[in-house]
Amino acid sequence: MHIEGEYDDGNLVVRLDGRVLDPARSQKVWNHSPDGFAWGYGGSGPAQLALAILLAAGLSDDDAVRLHQPFKWAFIAPLPQGRFSISVDVDGWIKAPNVVAAARPSITCPTCHLTSYNPSDIRENYCGFCHQFHGSTL
Ligand SMILES: [Zn+2]
Repeated sequence: MHIEGEYDDGNLVVRLDGRVLDPARSQKVWNHSPDGFAWGYGGSGPAQLALAILLAAGLSDDDAVRLHQPFKWAFIAPLPQGRFSISVDVDGWIKAPNVVAAARPSITCPTCHLTSYNPSDIRENYCGFCHQFHGSTL
């Protein structure tokens, strides 16, 4: 799949294989970003774009939701601000073993922003990097 974006002060267009991608369908599945798509960082607009790409690639709603954050970190967050043009093998990426690992449950510390996949950290709301419990704030 070929993905192109132009990012030009409010005039923002993403094309998949030459066709304009509309955020509306993905926003019905999960509305991260009412303002639509963005890229080049890890926020809500990039999450919306990742979700829309996976839906357009034919994933079910559930699979697209489960995998869109790892997809965002792999492909959308690293893009340059401004124009981009990339080719992504979505099927190949989904079948890669690290994708399943990236989609497993995790907890991200609001203090140090590191992510743990340790099940007891998740259960107890604990950050093993700062060595503290985060209470119910997560
Ligand atoms: Zn921490």
